[in-house]
Amino acid sequence: MSEKESDAYDLVIIGGGPGGLTAGIYAMRAAMKTVLVEMGAFGGQMVMTDEVENYPGFEHINGAELSMKFSQHAQACGLETISKQAVAVDPGIHFHTVRLSDGEELKAHSVILAVGGSPRKLGIPGEEAYHGKGVSYCAVCDGFFFRGKTVVVVGGGDTAAEEALYLAKLTPKVYLVHRRDELRASKILQQRVKDDCNIEIVWNAVPVEIKGDEQGVRAVTLKDTQTGEQRDLAAEGVFIFIGFEPNNDLVPAGVKMNAQGYVIADEKCETNIPGIFAVGDLKEKYARQIVVAAGEGCLAALGAAHYVETKKATGGVCELPPELMTQ
Ligand code: NAP
Repeated sequence: MSEKESDAYDLVIIGGGPGGLTAGIYAMRAAMKTVLVEMGAFGGQMVMTDEVENYPGFEHINGAELSMKFSQHAQACGLETISKQAVAVDPGIHFHTVRLSDGEELKAHSVILAVGGSPRKLGIPGEEAYHGKGVSYCAVCDGFFFRGKTVVVVGGGDTAAEEALYLAKLTPKVYLVHRRDELRASKILQQRVKDDCNIEIVWNAVPVEIKGDEQGVRAVTLKDTQTGEQRDLAAEGVFIFIGFEPNNDLVPAGVKMNAQGYVIADEKCETNIPGIFAVGDLKEKYARQIVVAAGEGCLAALGAAHYVETKKATGGVCELPPELMTQ
């Protein structure tokens, strides 16, 4: 075994959300030499969720508490973690390389990308200017500052519904602004939103501008999607939950993605580049759920274990797609 080979990891996992941490648990149990790179808190989007009610085994659990349980479990299995930012993944014939922000390079036979997604932006005037001064993408993080104040929640999916319900516990006036006349959220959440007397749904409306002053947000200009009419809705907080975009900056060139930028992977969560896997919200899928990300973390780790074992047994070379063979 060369010096380089003995230093290399069997697996580098990037991202410490439910997908990455579950991959870590399975990788340790498969006796893989593994490290997980996470620049922030463990748990990903889960850590910013108030109540999780659909993770089997827990009828109700706070997202931060579930995150802690995931990371404690992974650490109890002996998973090594590095608290740094990964800045690039370079596929290679002998090893894939994960580059970190301080210049360190991790060589690995396999890599699992578990870097999730980020909140989509409305892209309207005032959104960026008042970010942190009334505009937020996380009710659990910022809701406290809006106790007793009027807030607008934008979106009609599960996240918007859950966050509106959370905010309605803190303040008596939550406008839920949705661009259609029917919510996308699950029926149970729709019912809870409709039953909550602190939430008023504004149907068929989209925000076109966020207005404010040096104190912060003062109003949201809404446009009626049917009549085109505009009006200002007075509010001090605007919480935007209009979906996610995959964090695909680290996805190496040559990895296949769909038109929306989600990574395409097979049943083992392996991409078209052998030894590079994608799990959770980064990967194309039908439903973005904690349990799905965790399940994919399991599949990817088992797939990576099989891949690394086979690679080592057959001479240790990764067959890159032809377009990457110049590297
Ligand atoms: P989502 O399901 O994609 O919903 C996004 C919402 O924002 C939709 O109602 C959409 O309207 C609206 N929207 C999108 N772009 C907009 C724009 N430019 N202006 C105004 N409105 C816009 O996103 P999500 O709610 O964040 O959920 C993401 C995934 O996580 C989903 O699969 C969801 O089921 C899952 N999730 C599950 C739970 C849970 O199970 N408890 C909790 C949170 C999230 P239209 O409906 O008209 O398209």
